Amino acid sequence: MTSSIKAVHIIGGGLAGSEAAWQLASASVPAVLHEMRPMRPTEAHQTDSLAELVCSNSFRSDDAHNNAVGLLHEEMRRANSLIMRAADTHKLPAGGALAVDRHGFSAAVQSALLAHPLVTLERGEIAGLPPEDWDSVIVATGPLTSPALAEAIARLSGEASLAFFDAIAPIVHYDSIDLSVAWKQSRYDKGGPAGDGADYLNCPLNKEEYETFVAGLLTGEKTEFKEWETSTPYFDGCLPIEVMAARGPDTLRWGPMKPVGLRDPRTGRRPWAVVQLRQDNALGTLWNIVGFQTKLKHGEQRRLFRTIPGLQGAEFARLGGLHRNTFLNSPRLLDGQLRLKAMPRLRFAGQITGCEGYVESAAVGLLTGRFAAAERLGLASHLPPATTAMGALLGHITGGADATTFQPMNVNFGLFPPIDGNLRGKERKQALAARALRDFDTWLAPRPLAAE
Ligand SMILES: Cc1cc2nc3c(=O)[nH]c(=O)nc-3n(C[C@H](O)[C@H](O)[C@H](O)COP(=O)(O)OP(=O)(O)OC[C@H]3O[C@@H](n4cnc5c(N)ncnc54)[C@H](O)[C@@H]3O)c2cc1C
Repeated sequence: MTSSIKAVHIIGGGLAGSEAAWQLASASVPAVLHEMRPMRPTEAHQTDSLAELVCSNSFRSDDAHNNAVGLLHEEMRRANSLIMRAADTHKLPAGGALAVDRHGFSAAVQSALLAHPLVTLERGEIAGLPPEDWDSVIVATGPLTSPALAEAIARLSGEASLAFFDAIAPIVHYDSIDLSVAWKQSRYDKGGPAGDGADYLNCPLNKEEYETFVAGLLTGEKTEFKEWETSTPYFDGCLPIEVMAARGPDTLRWGPMKPVGLRDPRTGRRPWAVVQLRQDNALGTLWNIVGFQTKLKHGEQRRLFRTIPGLQGAEFARLGGLHRNTFLNSPRLLDGQLRLKAMPRLRFAGQITGCEGYVESAAVGLLTGRFAAAERLGLASHLPPATTAMGALLGHITGGADATTFQPMNVNFGLFPPIDGNLRGKERKQALAARALRDFDTWLAPRPLAAE
């Protein structure tokens, strides 16, 4: 089919790029999808299929009423997501999770796109900035973006590099921290540019608790590196805590767990060691554990970190990890509609924007596709409300997160604006989910793509 509307180019036929192409075509805007595989492989992809799942086959919880990623599934279904349609068609038994037959899933995405008259697939690497006559481009090249393109974007954005050996520290929900134990204080009560001298939450450990914790780090089960990761060295500035612990019994006490400049108000004394948490989002609902990047297995992290006084009931929005990853410092570099401020003809989608996970990547692809389609059609763009899962994720990426500590993030209820303060646990999640779905329907209702 020929169209008088100029095509939008999408670089990368993964989860995000495939969803963006579908949203564009569904809005009658032609899309040209550029995928470098099979001519140029990545370190993790095994096939030349679009929307390949590089590791697990799970889209995680499908519970729209109690779980933030389940809620995101539901919003995507309501917004005509191809990724969710293919996942639902190829689902496998997996309890409350949505797991898929990976080959059936990818084949379904690819055949739907190839069958659409407004989608063209071009195989080949885009090895630098796209040509100038591509006036609307979606970059959805993922965590394994080819180096030539990553370097071009890094130069354009003023970043030294976009390929990081990613150091991720765990993030805790504020309302799960025991504030009768943890107290707020900055080291030496220093105020700093945005602080008031009480910016950190501090969890005190006595000598015995510290020694038991260090022993737990040394014996805890670690995730093995993938073969292609072993050649990437650690940066000394972001060593995993278990590697630091192995350097000597006091290394952590002189490093991220140092107690100097801090006084526990319950004892009036400086503790033997301290675990500090720093605010991670503008809402103040999420706090990261400072310097706690780790390769411990997730179950082990939960168990061990809950032995820290004050964190005994901690709920984790994200657990720690280290892996190679390419992503933008989106809060600094992108505008509210995911356009690169330094070159607005480039929009970004998927994991490269600093979301984490198959579903989140596809959801950001969905939004980017809709924003690019609205722009092409001369319609006003219309952001999803912050109270929805899509709006919460978008808000986090484009400004809610602290740019200085920005790391990829799964969707979670900590990203949502607070609701009635008396609600707790399950009731709170259900109220947030109900509000999200109501607001999402209102957002979609007037016109699929645009409002006034
Ligand atoms: C090793 C690894 C394991 C992961 N495991 C999981 C997991 O189990 N569960 C989970 O939820 N998430 C996982 N993730 C995180 C993330 O959800 C996935 O990487 C997800 O596929 C990201 O979607 P995306 O569309 O942004 O990128 P991708 O799905 O990777 O798609 C990007 C596409 O762009 C292509 N491309 C790259 N550069 C160029 C170029 N210059 N020109 C043309 N094409 C290009 C690539 O070939 C690829 O097809 C994992 C990530 C990695 C790296």
